[in-house]
Amino acid sequence: MIPHLPSEDAPGKACAAFLDALRAAGFEGDLSAADGDRTVLATDNSIYRLVPQAVAFLRGTEDLARIGRLLAEPRFAEVRIAPRGGGAGTNGQSLTDGLVVDVSRHMNRILEINPAERWVRVEAGVVKDQLNAALAQPPAG
Ligand SMILES: Cc1cc2nc3c(=O)[nH]c(=O)nc-3n(C[C@H](O)[C@H](O)[C@H](O)COP(=O)(O)OP(=O)(O)OC[C@H]3O[C@@H](n4cnc5c(N)ncnc54)[C@H](O)[C@@H]3O)c2cc1C
Repeated sequence: MIPHLPSEDAPGKACAAFLDALRAAGFEGDLSAADGDRTVLATDNSIYRLVPQAVAFLRGTEDLARIGRLLAEPRFAEVRIAPRGGGAGTNGQSLTDGLVVDVSRHMNRILEINPAERWVRVEAGVVKDQLNAALAQPPAG
């Protein structure tokens, strides 16, 4: 039987204030404390489960900078975050009871492919299957 995941008291006071401050700072991605998002991101590819208070789906690197700047403020000293890519880590590293910072929803663009020098530049949420599919395409033009 799948155990019930509690939804009360989320987000807590400090996390809620942090989300408000992020919105005021112009956060462009999605901020969610919905039960569905918290339930999905309470597990990864490990045996562990930890329900986050909220999830920040970054739109780009400037959103990450916004989070970093606010976290540096003493008033948010107790806010905890965990970055999350595919959630494929096997030891629960992407789980937190604070704020999940997700890069998989929006930061999944392949920015540059340089076959001659054998390198690519991607956003942090790109997964290998996606990259392999792009690399298998014939060069444009
Ligand atoms: C079937 C399978 C096979 C695997 N085989 C291998 C293998 O052969 N070799 C190998 O090395 N690993 C292997 N792994 C482990 C897995 O590939 C890595 O754990 C995976 O790359 C983690 O990437 P993720 O984006 O899913 O990270 P997550 O699981 O989302 O996060 C892992 C950790 O990285 C942090 N993190 C995530 N994104 C960022 C970011 N953008 N910036 C900063 N920190 C971030 C998280 O906070 C967390 O601490 C395997 C896993 C599976 C499920």
